[in-house]
Formats: sequence, structure tokens, C-alpha cells
Amino acid sequence: MTYLVNDPEHFAADALRGYAAAHPQHVMLAHGGVVRSTETPQGQPALVIGGGSGHYPAFAGWIGPGMGHGAPCGNIFSSPSASQVYSVSRSAENGGGVILGFGNYAGDVLHFGQAAEKLRAEGVDVRIIRVSDDIASGPAAEHRDRRGIAGDLVVFKIAGAAIESGADIDEAERVAWKANDATRSFGVAFEGCTLPGADGALFHVPEGEMAIGLGIHGEPGIREVPLGTAAEVADLLLDGVLEEEPERSAGGYQGRVAVVLNGLGSVKYEELFTVYGRLAERFAEKGLTVVAPEVGEHVTSLDMAGLSLTVVFLDDELEEYWLAPADTPAFRRGAPDSSARAGRTRVHTPGEEAIPEASPESREVAASIVKALEVLRATASEHQEYFGRLDAVAGDGDHGQGMAYGSRGAAEAGRAAVEKGAGARTVLLHAGDAWAEEAGGTSGALWGAALIAAGSVFDDAEGATPAHVVRALMTGSDAISRLGGAEPGDKTMVDAIVPFRESLAAEFEASADLAASTRKAAAVAREAADATSGIAARRGRSRVLGEKSVGTPDPGAISFSILMDALAELFGSATVENRP
Ligand code: ADP
Ligand code: MG
Repeated sequence: MTYLVNDPEHFAADALRGYAAAHPQHVMLAHGGVVRSTETPQGQPALVIGGGSGHYPAFAGWIGPGMGHGAPCGNIFSSPSASQVYSVSRSAENGGGVILGFGNYAGDVLHFGQAAEKLRAEGVDVRIIRVSDDIASGPAAEHRDRRGIAGDLVVFKIAGAAIESGADIDEAERVAWKANDATRSFGVAFEGCTLPGADGALFHVPEGEMAIGLGIHGEPGIREVPLGTAAEVADLLLDGVLEEEPERSAGGYQGRVAVVLNGLGSVKYEELFTVYGRLAERFAEKGLTVVAPEVGEHVTSLDMAGLSLTVVFLDDELEEYWLAPADTPAFRRGAPDSSARAGRTRVHTPGEEAIPEASPESREVAASIVKALEVLRATASEHQEYFGRLDAVAGDGDHGQGMAYGSRGAAEAGRAAVEKGAGARTVLLHAGDAWAEEAGGTSGALWGAALIAAGSVFDDAEGATPAHVVRALMTGSDAISRLGGAEPGDKTMVDAIVPFRESLAAEFEASADLAASTRKAAAVAREAADATSGIAARRGRSRVLGEKSVGTPDPGAISFSILMDALAELFGSATVENRP
């Protein structure tokens, strides 16, 4: 239960504000997150770590010398938006590039990935580290595809220490991946957690049982078994993790391990120590030497009752970085040298970049784009309830809200950019950022990316022909397939997008009629979206409840086809203006 809440919608932001106020010597607020309150030394890579809120001290608690440089913090359990990741990165970056670190979750992969693309386009060297320590979430042979849990602590600690000791971005990236590859975690939970403002837990574990391998957002685990004694739980966790103990080798792993016993939110420290007592005996029995163990709350899950064990199979290099000094609000070790740290004087704010100059022709196109965004907004808002209902069947019910908020944000940002004189390309860039930020969720990231990609078809100088518009639709929709990585048949938007693109290309080639081609393609997309009723989801949040989704079409595919149909209608009413 969360007792102390102002407004549930702003809980994460309220908590972050208070956190920054409590730790001014370490952090200051940036857009959607925090950044060190001291400047990053010139040429030092910036380690930007993040994910959803609700996991404190992950991630904002680990900002300071020897660990992270900045942490974008999403809403509770949802990824920070690409623009938040971008702003925090821009604030922290000082000529040494950026390492983006996060647990391997779909929403984080999309939003951090999109921020990386934008930073790279601006000449910043960006590397991505996806922490994947949870052995319950995938086979050993595919370690890097697993999801990240408490291993975040050790991977970011070790990467931060490498950077503090002078590593450049190549070296820091190498060390971070090495730490991830040497780290294994395994957890159990006894009861679910309650989102701020919610009446009941997000999920339950049957009384007297424990869920083995349950994820930190309630992702299903391996199985449920009767709750054992503390010693039995210790044995279960240890035996699980040690199944993947590597061979010992000269110059490599030699039986020395870093250990984190992590409480998920409502397991008492005394309980953790009871479990750790048994673990310490078992490590000794097995001839393993534990190096600087951490027992406490490191990666939590609101008030979830549960714990996880993380083991890092150390070599000399990893051990040195694990033991190196760190000074952050939630993780301290020794005393890093802080004699020469200058106070930070500025953070990046979204929209602070000047709007590039645009020709009158391009500004006219930009105004038409805003009209199109307004149509998307009106259509999404009209169908909000319906999209939400579809998503509630096998997803989390937020697709209506995501589409409504995202399209509203895009239309508003687009209008603001036009008022400042933006051309077509710039308007779509601003609108795409805003869509991703306001919508949140997987589909928000993908729609945001689609708008940004569509913008690349235009420049801020030329006018637009119907052929340009078709190319923008093709490029934008293609970005969704490319970034989301879904295949037709996975039951996602892509099931509507692939036939939409085929039809649009063929129809426009034949008729050169923008409105009619888009209308036809939208109808084909609608038919394909309806046909997803018959299949089970294999991607996104719905894959968990894949079978339950049979009989209901994919919400993202339906919303895509409905929005494209609305665009076709707009094109029909505006064909005169759009003639080449
Ligand atoms: P979330 O799943 O984060 O709650 P939404 O509910 O807004 O986000 O959107 C759900 C929709 O996102 C799904 O119906 C599906 O069409 C789409 N989606 C999910 N994952 C992918 C993916 N990898 N590629 C393309 N579309 C996806
Ligand atoms: Mg959803």
C-alpha cells in the first residue's frame, strides 16, 4: 500500500523533486530526471542510467562520483521518454560521449534507443548497455536477452568506477558488458505491489506460496511453490544462480564473487540478514570467497514482498572496480577524491535549441502538418475509450490514454513550433518527441519515432507534393516496424502496417491520387487489424497473456488503421491545396 500520495498521476515526479531537494550536494533536477550537481569533467564519458520509477534507489539514488552521471526517471514502472533521456544525457555529457544503461525492457529499449539516435545525429558518441541478469527470464545461452533486475547495481557501479578511474568510452563500454556477462540474479516474491492511488495489489501470490522468478513489475515467473524457511529460500536462490558459475581459470574467475541480497520493498532487513546468514555458510562450504557483500534494498518494486540474490563472478579487474570508491545518496564506498569538482551551472531544457529557419513554402507545409496532427488528436480522443477497452483484454488497458495523450502532445508541440516559424521537418521532429513523451508506453515510443522518421522526408526549404506525403507515410510506418522489431503475425501494429504500406505504394503508383490511395490503404489496414482477432500475441505486454488475446483484435493495429482512415478523409477534403 502507498499511504502518502498527493496526486497519483504525479507521484513519481513529486518523489523525484523531494529527492533532489534532500540531496543537493549530489544531484539537481533536469527535465524528467536528475543529473549530478557537479560538472562532468571535460572528456569524461557520462553514464546515464535509468528506467521507470518505483525502484528506488535504482536509479536516481546512484548518481554521484564513482557511479552514474544522470538518471532519467520515468513514471512508475514505465520507461522515461526519449526526450527525458535526451535532456538528461545532454545535461551530463561533456565531450566524452554517453553510455546509456538500463534494464532490458521493451519500453526502455525503444525510448533510450530513440534518444541515442538523436544524440548520435548531433555527433555525440553513444553506447548502450542493457543489463540482463535475471536467470528466470531466459535461457543461459541467451544471457544478453534476459531482463535486468538487481544486477543493475553492480553493472552500473563497476562501469561508473571504470569511468572514474579514467576509462574512455570504449573501455567503459567493454567493462560494463563484461560486468553484465559475469552477473546472475534470481528472485522470489511472496506478494505483489500496489501502484500509488490503486485500491489493490497489481497481482497476488497465493497465500503460503512463493513465486519463483517473478519480475520486478510482476512479470510471470517460473512457478509457484510452497513458501519455505529462510534457509530453504537461501538455498533455492543460491543453487539457481550457481548453476551458471563459470569455469575457474588463471587470470580469470577464481572463486571470488560479489554478492547482493536485495529486498524488493517490504521484506525486513532482519529477514534479509536471516537469509544472508545461510548464504554466507553455503558460499564458504562451496569454497567461494564473498567480496564486499551488499544486503539491503537496492532495486525495489514499490512495496513488493520478495527478494533476489545477485552474484558477480569476479576477475581481478571487476573486483577492483567493485571495490573502488563511490559517493552517491544511496550507495557509498570509501571516499572518491572530490577536490576538483566544479558545481554544475546548467541543465538542458527541451525546446531550448533554436528553431532552424524555414522558407515560406515549408512553413505552409508545416501548417498543413499541424492540421493533420489535429485530426489525429480528435480521432484518438473520440476512440479513446474503445482503444483502452481493447488493450484491457490482454494488455494493461492504457492504449486509449496513450494515443489520446500522445496525439494531443504532438498537436500542441507542432502548433507551438509553427508559431515560432518552424518548417515541415522541424515540426515533425517536435511533434514526434512530444508524442513519445506524453503517451509513454510502447506504442507511444513507436508513434513518436514514426513522426520523427516522417520528418526526414521533408526539409525546411521546399514545399511538398502528394508524393512527399506518401513518402512520409511510408517512411514513418516503416520506422515502427524497424524500431519495434515485430514481424507480421506477432499481433502488433505491424500486422496492419505491412499491408497498409503495400497497398499505399501500389495504389499511389497507379493513380497518383493521395486521398484515394490512403483511403484504400487504410481500409486494407483495417481488415488486417480485424484479422488479428484470430491470433495470439507474441510481442509487447500482451505476449504474457497471449492466449487471452485471441478473439480481440490488436489495439495498436486497430488504432493505426482508424487514424490512417481519418488522415485519408483530411486529404480528401484538402486535395485542391495538395495538388503539385
Ligand atoms: P504498452 O504495451 O506499453 O502498454 P500501448 O498499450 O499504448 O503500450 O500499446 C500497445 C500496442 O503496442 C499493441 O497493441 C501493439 O500494437 C503495439 N506494440 C507492442 N509491442 C510492439 C512492437 N514490438 N512492435 C510494434 N508494435 C508493438
Ligand atoms: Mg498498454
